[in-house]
Amino acid sequence: MSFCLNCLNEFTEASWSDLFLPPILCPSCYRSLKPRFSAFRLDGKKAYSLYPYSEAFRNLLYRFKGCYDLALAPVFLCKTRIFLRFFFSSYVLVPAPSNEEDDIKRGFNHVHEIFKELGLPMSKAIAKTTRFKQAGSSREERLKVAERLALVDASGLKGRKVLFVDDVITTGSTARACRALIEEAGAKEVSFFFLSMVQKDRENSIHRPFSP
Ligand SMILES: [Zn+2]
Repeated sequence: MSFCLNCLNEFTEASWSDLFLPPILCPSCYRSLKPRFSAFRLDGKKAYSLYPYSEAFRNLLYRFKGCYDLALAPVFLCKTRIFLRFFFSSYVLVPAPSNEEDDIKRGFNHVHEIFKELGLPMSKAIAKTTRFKQAGSSREERLKVAERLALVDASGLKGRKVLFVDDVITTGSTARACRALIEEAGAKEVSFFFLSMVQKDRENSIHRPFSP
């Protein structure tokens, strides 16, 4: 018998993944997230996402990130972390920078907490220099994002394959700006992984699929 960390109901489940990891989301909650490992290109670079940006995903992320429920950190990669750890085993992870004030208020950095579950090396190489929220998709906005980010620790990225990780991709402005900084640090390769992708701009190159 297990307890679902999302709906708090008891459940019994027998799937192959439970042989390795104790289940923490009930089948119903997990199905509601509609997990699907998707590969696409972001400005010609490999990018991946795991969940559609649905109401179920948004609510779960809000409880974790907005209501400071740190116990929910492992649920996002609960069924896929063994696969992802193997798939990205040769990468150094760089989490998307967040507002330091928000992290202090929250008591944790949400992207770091989610992706540390993979047990892969992680470098907080990039920081926000000023407080800002998600930017728009115009060129001016993208330039503004780039101006507000800084490479604070380039050690450990030179010659490495780097996976930039974030919770949600909308316009890709932050990811693009971070890619430039990661390349500046001397990374051999940059790829992207997002928990969820907002599909609102189909003109955007980020939605072009590819086979990994
Ligand atoms: Zn549940």
